[in-house]
Amino acid sequence: MDSIPALLDVVDEYLSEGYVRIKLKIEPGWDVAPVQAVRERFGDIALQVDANTAYTLNDSKQLAKLDDFDLLLIEQPLEEEDVRAHAVLAERVNTPICLDESITSARSAADAIALGACQIVNIKPGRVGGYLEARRIHDVCVAYGIPVWCGGMLETGLGRAANVALAAMPGFTLPGDVSASDRFYSEDITEPFVLREGGLDVPTGHGLGVSPTPERLDSFTFATSEFFPA
Ligand SMILES: [Mg+2]
Repeated sequence: MDSIPALLDVVDEYLSEGYVRIKLKIEPGWDVAPVQAVRERFGDIALQVDANTAYTLNDSKQLAKLDDFDLLLIEQPLEEEDVRAHAVLAERVNTPICLDESITSARSAADAIALGACQIVNIKPGRVGGYLEARRIHDVCVAYGIPVWCGGMLETGLGRAANVALAAMPGFTLPGDVSASDRFYSEDITEPFVLREGGLDVPTGHGLGVSPTPERLDSFTFATSEFFPA
């Protein structure tokens, strides 16, 4: 959002829709003030921030100011390849560090955890090469006692269904970024996912558990290819 009043309006809107956790995107020049404003206006809500690699270790003091606001976590404050710097930062701030962009595999998750670079991990299947690797990262984190949550990358209802199933695994103890379909789409290619008491129902069908609605798929299709078994 471009201003704090606009930000407060949007947060208010999502809270009244039933979302149980708010995540603010931060960057240098837009961090303490918006966090403080949201905390003061909405009180004791579950609140976290995501910096998408926007800071350096020179910003440690500024990031430590966020400790006053009882955030669930600071997500990916530093450059994705600089895992070691996150370990240094973790010594300088009290808010738990969560890695997102840095975690590309179960092996990188194990290394980051062993270095003390993160206390929480965001698992995005689209970032790590799919659901099998996502599950391995979950298992590594559970073994280390590291909570995880499910990120999102603008999935349609198909990917969203798989993310909801993933997010139902036992190590996913923090609210994820798996939103209702209308957060990003006015119309989706599946039946939309709808928020119910701050959650989404896990599909119970085979495979992804949902199918594209043929008419909707048709209306968004601009090219088709057919593949035949050899
Ligand atoms: Mg992120």
